Amino acid sequence: MLTLSDIRKDFGDGDVLRGISLTVEPGEFLTLLGPSGCGKTTLLRVIAGLESPTSGQVTLEGKDITALPPEKRSVNTVFQNYALFPHMNVQRNIAYGLKLRGVKRADVRALVEQMLRLVRLEGYERRMPSQLSGGQRQRVAIARAVVLKPALLLLDEPLGALDLQLRRAMQVELKRIQKDLGVAFVYVTHDQEEAINMSDRIAVIRAGQIEQLGTPEEIYERPLTRFAAQFIGQTNLIPAEVIGSSGYGELTLRVSGVTVPACGRANAGDMVTLCVRMERVRCGSVRPDGFALRARLTETRYAGGFLRSTMELEGGISLEAIGQDSLGARTGDECFVWWDPALAPVVPAEDAA
Ligand code: ATP
Repeated sequence: MLTLSDIRKDFGDGDVLRGISLTVEPGEFLTLLGPSGCGKTTLLRVIAGLESPTSGQVTLEGKDITALPPEKRSVNTVFQNYALFPHMNVQRNIAYGLKLRGVKRADVRALVEQMLRLVRLEGYERRMPSQLSGGQRQRVAIARAVVLKPALLLLDEPLGALDLQLRRAMQVELKRIQKDLGVAFVYVTHDQEEAINMSDRIAVIRAGQIEQLGTPEEIYERPLTRFAAQFIGQTNLIPAEVIGSSGYGELTLRVSGVTVPACGRANAGDMVTLCVRMERVRCGSVRPDGFALRARLTETRYAGGFLRSTMELEGGISLEAIGQDSLGARTGDECFVWWDPALAPVVPAEDAA
């Protein structure tokens, strides 16, 4: 329903967006995820019409809208700072856009009621924004944006100002609202947990370019670059050389003199980075069947419900693990370290960017 074709934006100081192309499907929840300054908000503003791209094309429902002003696009935006009208109560805040459009009074009332049900704020019609919690205010902002039935809703870090617990509760709420409405969402965040919990697909953005676009599972299980592997999840990134490749995605690596199995596409002789998720590293005092490396358990820290351990491999490589226990190994002990090689992909050692 939304197509971005080779979007570039230069504010006069070099390209902030460097050729972004992507498609958003009807009813899809697509997240733009990336570090501060990578261009997420700029891209959202280009979609909203608040910024015009230096080059490239924005198409919505088959129509080129690149040159259309914001109010002529069937797109609405929810910002982090709510932007409710402070002197209007909840009912009037939600009704505002409908009235501007000349919707009949009785219809306005019915639509506002429907929205209040959707965001679970029935009974709050007469409250002023100052009498609401942060989460309630954000729900009013969402109701106000979706009551106009946009084809697409853009959300720029809408939960950024909320505390962790409320943010998690609102993630579930927002996802439900999105499913109930069937409206496509383009959601900006730099919070990987939020992106994984809510999105149908994630675009990992780095320095104005899409580094990887895929489902949360695809990006988590099969990162294509070191940056994507590092940005999502907690990952050990280990320099390695490919010494054997089956051609079926099974690899044999040399990691500081030790032979290690892995998965992914690479050729013998390639320098790669092995990505091992911390929660998949196991450590114990007894050698298991199959692949295991000798190591020393150098540190174990309690990290709230789980242990975070540091292991030193032969050759001086350090590995981090998070898990429930260290299977009999104690700090300072020699131990064995292992993981499922089918869940440990490699990415190119050097990123082009
Ligand atoms: P954050 O997560 O911190 O909000 P972001 O990924 O949304 O970051 P943008 O706000 O899109 O990043 O900014 C990307 C880059 O573009 C930054 O270097 C920023 O300084 C620059 N930039 C944004 N707007 C303008 C502008 N109006 N004029 C000049 N430079 C700008």
